[in-house]
Amino acid sequence: MNLKGKKAVVTGGSRGIGKGIVLELASKGCDVVFTYNSNEEAAKAVENDLSELGVEGFGIKADASSFETTQETMKNILEKFGRVDILVNNAGITKDNPLFMMSENDFDSVIDANLKSVFNYTKAVLRPMIKQRYGRIINISSVVAITGNPGQANYVASKAGVIGMTKSNAKELASRNITVNAVCPGFIETDMTGKLNDQQKDAMLKTIPLARFGKSEDIAKVVSFLVSDSADYITGQVIAVDGGMVM
Ligand code: NAP
Repeated sequence: MNLKGKKAVVTGGSRGIGKGIVLELASKGCDVVFTYNSNEEAAKAVENDLSELGVEGFGIKADASSFETTQETMKNILEKFGRVDILVNNAGITKDNPLFMMSENDFDSVIDANLKSVFNYTKAVLRPMIKQRYGRIINISSVVAITGNPGQANYVASKAGVIGMTKSNAKELASRNITVNAVCPGFIETDMTGKLNDQQKDAMLKTIPLARFGKSEDIAKVVSFLVSDSADYITGQVIAVDGGMVM
């Protein structure tokens, strides 16, 4: 799975799963631009990792929920990289609350960061990918998009929307040799899941047949396969990487 010479964009690549994806792609020789929202220090650390791996790459502070910012960001990336072969829509947030306590702002901001961001970035890479007749798009959804989850109506709605968009986009873009697939992580150890208390984590662990939490690398390896030539004939699929949580 050599990705040498390929150019990738990973949203939310400064921490957690996104960082794992950035480093996995880079370890296969891929040049990678990643975005982040606010944590400059974490982004700098990933930039250092990229230069140690000997590939081209850098981080851009860019709110993925903003359509205008995304258009500007992609313009800058295309000027520097010349092309984009791979897009990984990974940026995401949670603002959990039972429905009766969930504010309109908490609903809207999660939908914007998790779902609208996929629209923003996919639309921004569409023209160059269609022109070059090649593109590999991976959308990071979640297993809760399939199962539902109490206290996460906003998050689950956003991630279920990502699955719907993945399938529509896959059908729309297949004739241009652009594949679109969704990866659904289960419980992966990152800052996002670090917010849960021990009781919640213990309950979650009992639902995982492989009896361990996932690591960012578990997701990154699957993403790296899906964007490689080995997966040229796979599109519109929803792949759970969850230790068997959802069957
Ligand atoms: P994380 O550790 O909280 O990292 C989130 C990353 O996204 C950070 O790099 C963050 O940047 C960036 N980000 C957040 N909002 C953004 C925005 N509006 N614009 C640009 N970048 C933004 O999260 P994670 O656990 O790695 O999750 C990554 C993806 O996997 C998310 O889509 C999440 O929903 C999904 N997922 C995670 C799990 C899990 O168990 N962890 C399970 C299922 C699905 P800053 O550092 O600047 O904040």
